[in-house]
Amino acid sequence: KQRNIFFIRGFIILLFTSLTVKINLCFSNTLPLKTLELDGHFNFDEVHHAAKDFGNRFQFLPAAVLHPKSVFDIAITVRHIWQMGTSSELTVAARGHGHSLQGQSQAHRGVVINMESLKNSAMQIHTGKFPYVDVYGGELWINVLHETLKFGLAPKSWTDYLHLTVGGTLSNAGISGQAFRHGPQISNVHQLEVVTGKGDVVNCSKEENGDLFHSVLGGLGQFGIITRARISLEPAPAMVKWIRVLYSDFATFTRDQERLISAENMFDYIEGFVIINKTGLLNNWRSSFNPQDPAQASQFNSDGKTLFCLELAKYFNLDKTETVNQEVEKMLAQLSYIPSTLFMSEVTYVDFLDRVHVSEVKLRSKGLWEVPHPWLNLLIPKSKIHIFAEEVFGNILTQTSNGPVLIYPVNKSKWDNRTSVVIPEEDIFYLVAFLSSAVPSSTGTDGLEHILTQNKRILEFCETAHLGVKQYLPHYATQEEWRAHFGPRWEVFAQRKSAYDPLAIFAPGQRIFQKGN
Ligand code: FAD
Repeated sequence: KQRNIFFIRGFIILLFTSLTVKINLCFSNTLPLKTLELDGHFNFDEVHHAAKDFGNRFQFLPAAVLHPKSVFDIAITVRHIWQMGTSSELTVAARGHGHSLQGQSQAHRGVVINMESLKNSAMQIHTGKFPYVDVYGGELWINVLHETLKFGLAPKSWTDYLHLTVGGTLSNAGISGQAFRHGPQISNVHQLEVVTGKGDVVNCSKEENGDLFHSVLGGLGQFGIITRARISLEPAPAMVKWIRVLYSDFATFTRDQERLISAENMFDYIEGFVIINKTGLLNNWRSSFNPQDPAQASQFNSDGKTLFCLELAKYFNLDKTETVNQEVEKMLAQLSYIPSTLFMSEVTYVDFLDRVHVSEVKLRSKGLWEVPHPWLNLLIPKSKIHIFAEEVFGNILTQTSNGPVLIYPVNKSKWDNRTSVVIPEEDIFYLVAFLSSAVPSSTGTDGLEHILTQNKRILEFCETAHLGVKQYLPHYATQEEWRAHFGPRWEVFAQRKSAYDPLAIFAPGQRIFQKGN
């Protein structure tokens, strides 16, 4: 009995000691941060928010959250952590709007920088022949839109959803229906201000510190924190003709999409999506779209077939309504969609660009926004899209009610191969985005496990069929997988890491490098 008491006492002492060591380690890790003189402040207690993201699947608590009020707050903090060297475990993650899917903007026991704290800094808009706007890295694209519109201007390339930050999308690519013409958002940046892994504040562009500039664009937050970006602008239209047409034949659908992205001066936005096993689809559209021929549209019956919707937009100003109608009619006449399925709508430019926010408001009101989002985004070479579609839309995916499945082609010529983003090796490639929402605790086809298994099957098929697919917004658990993702570009990526963030302080949530290795 005495021996047992002895063991229990020993165990409690051991537990207590290890807990104390852990608490002390954490404390000593963050203690020096408290001594830094900043314009903004650290929060060491209310850190839970920074352990959440849109994906709603990964949660890593940071040790502290920095709310910077100036670029120098960020630089001082990073420099301090850099100077502590490998004696400190602290890492740093810039957090845009936290709309990552798998913990990419989180930092386990590290420092999360709340980039939106910088957002009060005024935007500088430069008009003239080549207009641009200077914005802070934590600024939301929706604010950039509203501010630039005051000058009749707007950025050229967007994402489908605008409540994302400039630094967050530039760390990925920023792809939407304008990318076929203007390239992704990373192709529309003139200049950046970046805080490197040593805490240096560096200006960079194609001409000045070009390697850092290209590293950071699509760099998954690995090389520096984007504190300011100079974004290219164009004259903004007032209105948008928004068009949807359906196809039942995939080859005809992609032929039309590819023709449209290669033509000059046709549509301003080209996307598409897949519809599997959905009834009442056209009825759902009626609230926002008008059928060209209501009688025929009401008779359209998909017979449960898989359908492909081509989504187009043409920008215009109100004094050109007549001309634009004629132009659109002429362009549509060249396409081979099912005639009874032509739907149109006319909306303001802002309403068109901010369209996903309308769905967000609806989903939030039903408690369906903050659910797990096991998204899968793929970039697929044009030559393999038919093999992919046959297997994935024909066999693996049985319905698309878990969320939209987007599919549209873009031109590789609009991407700069010096940036860090990895894309397929063909002149045209498709973005295919499975934007699923999971119903918490469901074990059915709308549950997380089912969707994850489906995603895995899609990835396995791509692998075994050697489709040359690359993940967009990629996520991998091991460096081995990251090496495979980058392929021949891994060496350059790793060299850039040792040049700009040698201690691997930045964006640990991407799980590419580990601090100190
Ligand atoms: P976060 O998620 O906070 O950060 C993303 C990564 O970038 C992290 O690694 C973070 O550490 C790093 N980072 C953040 N800010 C900075 C900075 N200033 N400097 C350096 N690194 C930084 N993407 C598209 O391309 N096209 C779309 O149409 C599109 N639609 C979307 C719709 C919805 C509803 C959602 C939720 C996402 C969509 N995305 C789209 C994905 C989006 O690009 C990513 O979620 C991206 O991460 C931006 O989100 P964020 O600004 O919240 O950045």
